[in-house]
Amino acid sequence: MNVYDAERMADTLAPQGFVSVAAAEDADLVVLNTCHIREKAAEKVYSELGRLRVLKEAAAAEGRKVIVAVAGCVAQAEGADMVRRAPVVDIVVGPQSYHRLPELVAAAAIRPGVVDTALKAEDKFDRLVPPGREQIARRGSSAFVTIQEGCSRFCTYCVVPSTRGGEVSRPVDKVVAEVERLAAAGVREITVLGQNVNAYRGEGPDGRPWKLPRLLARLAEVPGIARLRYATSHPRAMSAELIAAHRELPQLMPYLHLPAQSGSDRILDAMNRRHTRDLYLQRLAEVRAARPDIALSSDFIVGFPGESDQDFADTMDLVERVGFASAYSFKYSPRPGTPAASMDGQVPEAVKSERLTALQAVLESQQRAFNLASVGRTVEVLFEKPGRLPGQIVGKSPHMQAVHVQAGAEMIGQIKAVRLVAVGSHSLFGEFADAVPQPIAV
Ligand code: SAM
Ligand code: SF4
Repeated sequence: MNVYDAERMADTLAPQGFVSVAAAEDADLVVLNTCHIREKAAEKVYSELGRLRVLKEAAAAEGRKVIVAVAGCVAQAEGADMVRRAPVVDIVVGPQSYHRLPELVAAAAIRPGVVDTALKAEDKFDRLVPPGREQIARRGSSAFVTIQEGCSRFCTYCVVPSTRGGEVSRPVDKVVAEVERLAAAGVREITVLGQNVNAYRGEGPDGRPWKLPRLLARLAEVPGIARLRYATSHPRAMSAELIAAHRELPQLMPYLHLPAQSGSDRILDAMNRRHTRDLYLQRLAEVRAARPDIALSSDFIVGFPGESDQDFADTMDLVERVGFASAYSFKYSPRPGTPAASMDGQVPEAVKSERLTALQAVLESQQRAFNLASVGRTVEVLFEKPGRLPGQIVGKSPHMQAVHVQAGAEMIGQIKAVRLVAVGSHSLFGEFADAVPQPIAV
């Protein structure tokens, strides 16, 4: 979502004459788009601001003025405090207000220290400037589209409901118009985004709320769109219709990111996840029945307050039972203002680290096993960009695996059948094939 937001900020500043530059040293305006989800991410902002202070002073010595803006969830959480703590900051703008960047830049040029942290979702989308054709083409054949903002679930560890506000779904017509524009400029794959995207309920053209499966079916009709994905989902909102879409909608890729967070019911309850371990496993079984070759992914938090050795063992057990194709895992990070931050039983850092290492070792081996099982298969790959080595391009398999092939850049943006021949550390290598892709049995 931050990638999407950053692109929309650039689009919205473009009519003012701003273009992206490769290095901060060359910029007249530097926008840090920040994340508040874990302490480490939030702290990085201040070290980056220290670097920008030096850069700003050096530019001033040459008679050049540089404006520094902090956008995103750290900006939202800290507001005016940020300017007091780091006077290098000229603009603080929250995730629901960045459509106002042009006005804020103009105001900061006269009087630095402008703060806008209003929480109004739809207003933003109505006022953002759409990207031009060339800009879309430069960003590649796969694009994100935010269809839902904010979250009203209030997991006890999470800052999202306070930094991004309550859950709001964008109307179907507006999402379709954005996707049509992207497709007309060559985009082949769309990932629709929301914190709780499978609970999407946007106003349809008929004036009634449409759920995610219906929206996906509509997006599949947009000429040029060959692939659809969605992220991130909540186990409670994994409806029978959405599961059926994995069987019925060929454009919907066989990949599902469904965060579990923990395998222990006691911890899930303390997290206010409002799903059990059994419900999670049940939904995955249904998804696998609908689409046997689906690749599964998840998020896990280790060391949540009160997590015992047995709770952690339950998480490890859940991971062993499922067999994930990939997953993200984090040490619990206490966030200001969240209920979990003041819960008893905070887990020592050393225990968190030990558990994370153990969990990540299993997840890594599962990912490797998934990739190894793909070798010898033929799959469709959407080529996205040049690879790291000369003469190589890289794309994604339907299962979200990175696939490298020796080929010219003219293949970028195309979908081709590729026979997978070898695994790298986190990717695969392949050769072009003529054969019709076979589903991967997991
Ligand atoms: N809405 C999604 C969900 O419910 O899974 C994702 C929200 S969050 C942006 C992405 C991930 O960050 C979460 O799934 C969770 O694993 C992790 N996360 C959120 N708050 C955290 C915290 N305080 N400490 C550690 N990890 C956290
Ligand atoms: Fe945060 Fe996701 Fe829970 Fe919402 S559902 S509070 S975004 S972890």
